[in-house]
Amino acid sequence: MVFLDYGALAVSDRLRTRAINVDSTCNLCRQNAETICHVLFNCMVAQDLLSLANIPSPPSGFGVSLEDNMDLIFKLMEYSTVHPYAKWYHGIFWNIWKNRNAVLYAHKQEAHSLIIQRALEDARTWHEVNKSSTQEGRNMSRLNLMCNKWCPPSIGTVECNVHANWRKELWHHGGGWIARDHLGSVLFHAIDAFTSSPDRLIAELRCIIWSLQSLKDLHLSKVSIASDMIGAIDAITKPVEWPRYRVFTSQIAQLWLSFESCEFELEKSSANSIVRDISSSVTRYGLFQFYMA
Ligand SMILES: [Zn+2]
Repeated sequence: MVFLDYGALAVSDRLRTRAINVDSTCNLCRQNAETICHVLFNCMVAQDLLSLANIPSPPSGFGVSLEDNMDLIFKLMEYSTVHPYAKWYHGIFWNIWKNRNAVLYAHKQEAHSLIIQRALEDARTWHEVNKSSTQEGRNMSRLNLMCNKWCPPSIGTVECNVHANWRKELWHHGGGWIARDHLGSVLFHAIDAFTSSPDRLIAELRCIIWSLQSLKDLHLSKVSIASDMIGAIDAITKPVEWPRYRVFTSQIAQLWLSFESCEFELEKSSANSIVRDISSSVTRYGLFQFYMA
């Protein structure tokens, strides 16, 4: 997105620095000065479009620093296996800018949902045409990491194995997680009882949300979440294909932002056996009391 890096968008704020005397107020909202950051992030029109595109924002919203906002967007784009739309974000921003021009110069206002739909389609087409075989290989390697025994994470990363012990839709279920460092030393572990979940996948996603929230509270910055449930990893990394679980996957996407790095890994159940045992103890022994150690 070179056009942003060099301040090349001809907003009022930029034109005035070149001695072109135009009204500096944003013509879309008539509330603030029209800077690049305002048009793309802070204007109510941009905020509506970003929200429709499901682009995660910081808890307090996007700030007034274009650099900080772009850093976050580039970070999201870099980890596009977690945010599947992320590799298409350039299409969203390009269309936010095109919409501003259409309103100002052609007096044309399209429905925002249409703009986002077209932006995603444009960007998806662009991505399909440009993707290389090497990118495909990198995306698949996550699934090739499966080991029969538990494999330690890289130095500095904490691997957190999770498991939800779900049996029936109306029953309470247990959940557990265990966090280990690169030497395999157990740093923390926890179990808890959950109210009933309609299916096994929701149970696992709730357990993953709980573990991410706990790791965030423990101020861990580099984490890898390992689950032996392929559906859970698939729903997190391709939420668009799992719309029924969107309420959970978007919570996970929001929590993902709290970490410097956060990966999701598919583990064989044999490599996930310890956490399977501790989560089953919740229902087997009636340990309905949360503990973390
Ligand atoms: Zn505005």
